[in-house]
Amino acid sequence: MATAKPWTDIMLDDLKANNRGWAARKTASDPGFFSRLTGQQAPEYLWIGCSDSRVPANEIVGLDPGELFVHRNVANLAPPQDANYLSVLQFAVDVLKVRHILVVGHYGCGGVAAAVDGRRRGLVDHWLHPIREIHRAHRHELDAIADQRARLNRLCELNVVGQVKNVTSDVFVQDAWERGQKISVHGWVYSIADGLVRDLNVTVERPEDIPALG
Ligand code: ZN
Repeated sequence: MATAKPWTDIMLDDLKANNRGWAARKTASDPGFFSRLTGQQAPEYLWIGCSDSRVPANEIVGLDPGELFVHRNVANLAPPQDANYLSVLQFAVDVLKVRHILVVGHYGCGGVAAAVDGRRRGLVDHWLHPIREIHRAHRHELDAIADQRARLNRLCELNVVGQVKNVTSDVFVQDAWERGQKISVHGWVYSIADGLVRDLNVTVERPEDIPALG
């Protein structure tokens, strides 16, 4: 007697079928696509974004495999003590020689909200600590915003600016600028509500731009 497949297996079968369809469509429209990628990756952009499933990096900016180097974590942080982020940053700057680093937050970020709602969750409270520091530093501005959602969205923006500061003050980036390497660091916020990215206009292209971040 045949036993029915567990529903979880059926679900993964869907993913595998999706994958075969995607690879076939890519090959049909560009027969050399995958063979070109096996040679090397030469992305011009590093994306530092949130793990949120509603913020799919490549899709949002219409980039193909090979065009975007991606690092994602809860609340798009760039903590100067995090070996994972630092490894990605160094590889992107020193080896891939990316031209642009995009720090991309998003409105309605659950990580940002969790950082300041006063509830205890465990390990993630430690991870989110930098956001509480940003919150404290901008308490006056944030307290003046009456609407809670608007207040959290402003904190999402301030968090992006804070992470842009971290990236630009990192020694890998500083050394690259010193060598004459061209790197621009940008702060963006993505809106899940309309699919659009908003440029916070905090772009840093040289060390002299950093003080303007506040
Ligand atoms: Zn998020």
